[in-house]
Amino acid sequence: MKEYKKQGTMELPFHSPMEKEKWYKYKCNSCNFEDEIPEFILDELFVLSKLEGVEGDGTNCPECGFKMKPQGFIYR
Ligand SMILES: [Zn+2]
Repeated sequence: MKEYKKQGTMELPFHSPMEKEKWYKYKCNSCNFEDEIPEFILDELFVLSKLEGVEGDGTNCPECGFKMKPQGFIYR
């Protein structure tokens, strides 16, 4: 009788069967503009801002240019 090894195939308990994306909520403290940005966009913004030598991570308010602050994230 053989036993299956339990190690090696750990499943993530919080992994959803549906492929959901992580969205970050951002809010501008200057004009209260709110935005939700998917994680992969943030990654691109971050890389772009580094390439262009821009300060920060590229999440500036589109309304007033103030740096937006992350408020948390959601999955959708
Ligand atoms: Zn703003």
